[in-house]
This record gives sequence, C-alpha cells and structure tokens, in this order.
Amino acid sequence: MFEPAIDQSSFKMQMVELDKAVAKYRTGKKGQEQEIGALPQACHGPFSCTTKPICPDSDIPGLVGQRKLNLSETTTDHAEEHIFGPSAGKVRTAVKRANEILLKKLVDPKTGNINHVDWLFDQVLDPEAMNISNYWYLPGGHWKPTNCLPRWKVAILIPFRDRFHHLPIVLQNLIPMLQKQLLEFSFFVVEQANQELFNRAMLMNVGFLESLNFTDYDCFIIHDVDHVPVDDRNYYGCSSMPRHFVSSSDTDRWNNTPPYDAFFGAVTGLTKANIRSINGFPNVYWGWGGEDDEILYRVIDARLKITRDKGPITHYNVIKHHHISAQKSKDRGALLSTYKRRTGMDGLSDIVYPTPVYDLHTLYTNVSVDIKRVKVKCGGVFKIHSLDSQSKA
Ligand code: UDP
Ligand code: MN
Repeated sequence: MFEPAIDQSSFKMQMVELDKAVAKYRTGKKGQEQEIGALPQACHGPFSCTTKPICPDSDIPGLVGQRKLNLSETTTDHAEEHIFGPSAGKVRTAVKRANEILLKKLVDPKTGNINHVDWLFDQVLDPEAMNISNYWYLPGGHWKPTNCLPRWKVAILIPFRDRFHHLPIVLQNLIPMLQKQLLEFSFFVVEQANQELFNRAMLMNVGFLESLNFTDYDCFIIHDVDHVPVDDRNYYGCSSMPRHFVSSSDTDRWNNTPPYDAFFGAVTGLTKANIRSINGFPNVYWGWGGEDDEILYRVIDARLKITRDKGPITHYNVIKHHHISAQKSKDRGALLSTYKRRTGMDGLSDIVYPTPVYDLHTLYTNVSVDIKRVKVKCGGVFKIHSLDSQSKA
C-alpha cells in the first residue's frame, strides 16, 4: 500500500528522533526493560514510536532456522516480484522517479558541487516511502521495520564487478531473512567501474564512506555476492562484532569446513567504530587474495575480539555457476608482511577516488567507482602489477 508520510517534518528529522530514542534505550542496563517514555514531537506519523516496542535481538519470533534455499538462476524481475509481490510495479515506478529527481539535484546548480546524498534523501525520498510487509521501503533498497523500533541499522556492502547472475539470487535470499530478523538494513553494491585487477578491500572503504552519506549506520556487513546463509538465525545485527559470519560453506574447496581457522573472508561484520579503529581496509591489494588476512591482522592488533559461531547456523551455500575467481595477486604475501607499518597510512586515511555514480535500484543502491592505485609511502617498494596465471574457481 502506498502511504506518503503524513507528518510535516522531514523524513530525515523523524529518523533522527527515532534513532535518539533507540540510542537512549541501548544505553540502559542489559536485562532492564527501559521505558521509551515521552518522545519528541517529530516522532509520530508513519514512524510512530510511542506505541512500538524495541525490536528483539534474540528469541526473535518467526525465525524458522534452516531453510531450503533456491539458488537456481533467476532474473532481477523475478527477484523483485518475489520481494515486492503485487507492489512490484509501483515500486519500480517510484525508483525511476527517485532516480530522476536524484539526477537533477545531485549537482548544485550554483556551485557545481555534488550535493550530499543524505540531504537529497531528506528532500527526495519522503513521498517515496512505502509500506511493504511490515517494513518501510525506500528506493535504493533501504528497509526499516514498522512494527518495532529497529535495534540496529545495518549496511550490507557487496564488493562487485560483473557478477550479475549472482546478485538477484543472493538478494532474494537475504532480504526476507533480514526482514525476519527485524533489522533496519540497506544494500549497497559497490561496483569497480574499470578493468583493473579487482580490489575488494578498496571497494569496502568506498562502500563504508559512501553509505554514510545516506544515513548513520551502526555496522557494516561485507558480503561476497556468491554467499547465501542457510539459516535465518544467523543474526546480522551489530551486537557481537567484529564477527566472522561463516563457519563453513559447501564449496568443493572448503568441503564444509572453513579453509583455515584464521579465515576472515566472504562474510564479515564490523561496527563503524571497529572500522575507524583499524583505519579501514588496505587499498593496495589488487587481484584476489591477502586482503582478508590483513584485515584480520589489523583487527587483532587493535585488540578487538572476533566472534564466530561454529555449527550449522553459520553454514553458507555458495552459488557456483559461472563462478570464475578473480586473477590472483602475486604480491599478496609480500604485502601481508608489511601490514604493520602500512596500517596507519593505508586505508581510510589515504584513500582517494573519483566521485562515484549512484544509481538507485529496487533492491539496492549501486555505487559505481573508478578506483585508482594509491601510492603508499612507507619505505618498502612493492611490485603490485604482477600476477599468477588465471586462477580456477
Ligand atoms: N568479486 C566480483 N567480481 C570479480 C571478483 C570478485 O564481484 O570479478 C566480488 C564478489 O562479491 C565475490 C568476491 O568479490 O564473491 C570474492 O571473489 P571470488 O568469489 O572470486 O573469490 P573466491 O570465492 O574465489 O575466493
Ligand atoms: Mn566466491
């Protein structure tokens, strides 16, 4: 049902007030149910807070456990119909309109500068908010539960290039799971817009920084496009991060075990503070491999405690078809050995990249970026161009 926001105050203001109310609750002692109490005036209308409980983060009713996944090839249209049901057409129209407005407003006509997107959302997307199966939906794949106050705002960042056959499959499986988990969540597909070697970690930095233009996320889940969780009790909230979400997966390589105990790849979660405390992710890993190990070392050095649940709840299925791994980085070993002196100067502190192109899709916000090599001055000389031969999946 299409229901425009009825309050005079802006969508963003209501979100801010709502967040304040939830933050106040979170600071209460664990176990003590805290009254939300009188909430500010702005917190009414479609985002009414006073009558809603905080969304639970454990014993969530409706989680069914292991699901039978459908990993067969699908189209974006089918995935959209699966998620939006009869509202799919209306959603597509709203997304188209939101993009048109976004295009017009993205560049400030007076200064020529790029406007900040959070401002644009405030101006643009208020009338586009739609009520879809107990969630408010905004174009670009942003979801907020309507029946309870979301405990966490989660940004799912998918490092991406040319894996379009995987994308609808993973989204079609993840969105219903996150809805059942009663999280506020958004999907960002961070796309490398060039033919350089793939740089997963640098895309993660871009995704982190750019997503914060939309709203102030509590945590970030870095999600490979080919990994699908099998159990909806694998909770994607921010409470036990840094977290490695994958205990095992069904690739031939892994044979239902993690490849090695210190593996910190595929699906990981970090809070905003976690990411800042490790200076984000290294920008120097071009090609497959090594970056996930360095991120693990950075996390350990920052004395952050990683959690990983073992057992069937954290098992993943991997979408296999057409899976060709990226070319390997030959220098990953050499780079890894220099991580300590690079950590402080290679990451969020030195990243530069051209302004990305945003494109709101029905299920996600595409952030397309032409990333370039960043030179790190830390004494070492790295050959960062050489390659192993094409690796196999
Ligand atoms: N990826 C991508 N395009 C590429 C290479 C990698 O989108 O050309 C992203 C995608 O999210 C993928 C992740 O990076 O799941 C890790 O790459 P890949 O799956 O090839 O690594 P592997 O599973 O072989 O270790
Ligand atoms: Mn993979």
